[in-house]
Amino acid sequence: MPKKNDDETIDEMHKQLRDLLNNKNVQVAFAPFMESIKAGSEDSADDEDDTESSGPEAPVEPTRDETLEAIRSFDRKPKEIRDYLDRFVIKQEQAKRVLSVAVCDHYNHVRRCLEDENRAKAEYVKPNVLLLGPTGVGKTYLMRNVAKLIGVPFVKADATKFSETGYVGYDVDDLVRDLVKSAGGDVELAEFGIIYVDEIDKIASEASRSGRDVSGRGVQINLLKLMEETEVNLHSPQDMMGQMKAFMDMQKGTKSNKSTISTKNILFIVSGAFDQLAENVRKRLDVNRIGFGSTDDEGADDESTNRFLAKAETRDFIKYGFEPEFVGRLPVRVACEELTKEDLGEILHSSEGNVLEQYKNDFDGYCIDFKIDDEAIERIAEQAAEEKTGARGLVTVLERTFRDFKFELPSSGIRNFAVSARTVDHPKESLAELLEQNRDQMDESMLADVDRFTDDFKREHGFLLRMRKPAKVALVKIALKENRSVRAVCEKKFSDYEHGLGIISQRTGKKEFVIEKKTIDDPDKELSRWVVDSFGSKKSPE
Ligand code: ADP
Repeated sequence: MPKKNDDETIDEMHKQLRDLLNNKNVQVAFAPFMESIKAGSEDSADDEDDTESSGPEAPVEPTRDETLEAIRSFDRKPKEIRDYLDRFVIKQEQAKRVLSVAVCDHYNHVRRCLEDENRAKAEYVKPNVLLLGPTGVGKTYLMRNVAKLIGVPFVKADATKFSETGYVGYDVDDLVRDLVKSAGGDVELAEFGIIYVDEIDKIASEASRSGRDVSGRGVQINLLKLMEETEVNLHSPQDMMGQMKAFMDMQKGTKSNKSTISTKNILFIVSGAFDQLAENVRKRLDVNRIGFGSTDDEGADDESTNRFLAKAETRDFIKYGFEPEFVGRLPVRVACEELTKEDLGEILHSSEGNVLEQYKNDFDGYCIDFKIDDEAIERIAEQAAEEKTGARGLVTVLERTFRDFKFELPSSGIRNFAVSARTVDHPKESLAELLEQNRDQMDESMLADVDRFTDDFKREHGFLLRMRKPAKVALVKIALKENRSVRAVCEKKFSDYEHGLGIISQRTGKKEFVIEKKTIDDPDKELSRWVVDSFGSKKSPE
């Protein structure tokens, strides 16, 4: 193949494949490939679960070389990691300690292997982690923050994604390829990344578990390969364009980038709620207690099954439906605790970058000063706890409480919003009262809305409406009375002005018009008068 035409050839193939893909019959088979075309080359770095908050953004992004250098010279200590996590994650003390140690051990090992080849060849048990615990208690959040601190790429996926088989299915290897995407296509960086697989309990293959069968076992085995050490092809078998590009690069003789990625140094975290497992452990402990007369297991009838997860042993996991080798590759196991309403309140009070701060910022964007008292926070936490979705309940409650305020307040004259327990308990009534109390209150921002309208009118139609202050005030008052935006009122009042002023301008050359209060009272009458007057005047600018 002639070298100089390679790029054109790729373009041509690209086009032909697009045409081909537009044919519905082949769309399904090529879906993953099509996604890669749609997404562009390497820009769809985020995994689909990435909608959650991931803590505060770092102000200045380090360069790629700085990041790699930081990983290669990793020198953090477990307590430092724990202290960092304390800023964002409330509770989960045990998980923080265990994770901090696992992460430090792993990246210390990576550093030392890079320094010493012999060490790299020696046997090493990677401290992959199994996180147990209910939803929304911070399992992902912990790992995301760890990854951010160390500067390594991070991806998350649900194990249930892999359970379906078939040629268009999501392959476990795709996780590793996603990690490369999340590293901006940087394979070297991705090789130090963290892969997080949630809902791992759903791929247990216990025969008695209805609806689950060998597919769970198959996924476990595939994941096991990744967790051990393997080379994953950078292009999936369905990624024809990637395959072709790699082939072209080879043909060109360009010093080819790596076509595979090693999972040797990738840290794996798997997690799940394991409700049933907790129950099994409880039973086992009960049996032991009866059998040996142990009194150690006080509170076995505790409604929270979660505490039993902390006592799960390898045999429990195997009995639950995991391959012994799979459990063996997850030597670090730790259970996260449920979050009480006090914990949820604590999140709103002190977790950096928590969701309440986002709401404050949202109101701040409209220059509305948002204040919330302790009692209100307590109520939010109480309602969130009732949702039984951990900290996710906070988002639900905040959204429910503030959604109408977010709609109404920016277009009102209200610039101070003090949230009390009543606001949380009765948001609709509180909003109505707040609006009523401030019904006649207008502020500079509403008058500025009129100015924004006249600026846009000038830009779009070329006429300057010189609004007198009483006219502006009249417009704002109408908006307040009718509960509409100032802009909508202006647009309605001046709907015929573009046309009318055009006629006047043609006859007189006038481009500026003074708008008095009486114009607002009856804009059409005023406009008609001006038009009539213009027929009697000579063409002269005002
Ligand atoms: P899961 O345990 O299901 O992985 P996540 O870590 O995804 O839950 O939690 C969802 C969101 O809730 C997080 O992004 C974070 O904002 C908040 N959150 C959860 N747990 C905590 C916690 N312990 N401390 C502070 N925020 C938390």
